[in-house]
Amino acid sequence: MTHHPAKRPLRVIIIGAGIGGLAAACALRQRGIEVALYERSQKLEEVGAGLQIGPNGVKVLRALGLEDELMRNAFEPFSIMSITWDEGRLRFRQPLKAIAREKFGFNTEPLKDLIHWGDIIDGAQYPTPESAVELAEPATQLALVIEAAPEDGLPARIIPELAYRSLSEMVKLPLVARHLAPLLERHRKSIEILRERIEARDGVIFFDVGDLQLEGYNKFIPYLLHPECVYSVSVLASPVRAKVSLGTNPWNQATADKNLATLAEKFGGGGHPRVSAISFEPGDLPRAREVARELTATLRGK
Ligand SMILES: Cc1cc2nc3c(=O)[nH]c(=O)nc-3n(C[C@H](O)[C@H](O)[C@H](O)COP(=O)(O)OP(=O)(O)OC[C@H]3O[C@@H](n4cnc5c(N)ncnc54)[C@H](O)[C@@H]3O)c2cc1C
Repeated sequence: MTHHPAKRPLRVIIIGAGIGGLAAACALRQRGIEVALYERSQKLEEVGAGLQIGPNGVKVLRALGLEDELMRNAFEPFSIMSITWDEGRLRFRQPLKAIAREKFGFNTEPLKDLIHWGDIIDGAQYPTPESAVELAEPATQLALVIEAAPEDGLPARIIPELAYRSLSEMVKLPLVARHLAPLLERHRKSIEILRERIEARDGVIFFDVGDLQLEGYNKFIPYLLHPECVYSVSVLASPVRAKVSLGTNPWNQATADKNLATLAEKFGGGGHPRVSAISFEPGDLPRAREVARELTATLRGK
């Protein structure tokens, strides 16, 4: 006698409500299949780690109809960066956004404004020094607050909001707005301070603000004040370090042939060919000043 399996609806039991179990349960239910999901943990909770979802994972969440929910709780990284542990030097930078769109069909349209400004701010791509210094746009005002980080953990609270708020809404959020006015005032004062302190000669700007708490000032001010210069060297200090910063004028690079990372490396610092820095212990400010003078002379060809 032939055995015929009973004609009854398919029922699936899934053991474990992890990522795999939940995704399978969602997909099966959407196809009308009855699912029983068993999980040994008493409650669903996070383990406290950040969660990175690759483009293939996003595709699955989209197929499950969960993309809107995901985007309310996530942000898309601009790039993967690998940084050396000891000097903080950039090893490589792999852009992500465009690749996610071109290869995997990720829709970046709702984040267009953010990406546009991210590229300008991160890549120092302002069309003019004025546009970099006047801080008239919500994006540049927000960058001012994030860079100054006037409160512990502030960037971590701001970044998720960026996933679903416009930049003009962002600067009105109390957690941003309460810092903006004092920081804009500090920014205006720093322009006046630099106007007084800068020594611009032979294409090189030098200034020493090691006696003031000016870390986090807008790096483009020197080039607004002295557009004819190619390089800048500065001495800064904060309670945690003394610092020598080297920069190249983004709007006057035609004759910039010096590798600033190599120059900084000679004194234990590092960075990028166009921007670099050397950190010192807070008590080593005199040494930082000496190094800054030496580097200024080198860049001036003396
Ligand atoms: C700290 C950390 C950070 C990570 N970060 C990322 C990241 O950023 N991006 C990324 O893609 N991946 C990340 N991963 C990996 C990712 O978490 C795993 O690849 C993924 O969770 C595997 O899914 P899974 O469904 O196979 O297993 P799990 O998510 O582990 O799910 C298995 C589930 O089964 C339950 N279970 C086990 N045995 C039984 C049983 N007998 N009866 C009932 N229930 C049972 C468990 O309690 C658990 O809930 C990270 C992992 C860790 C530990």
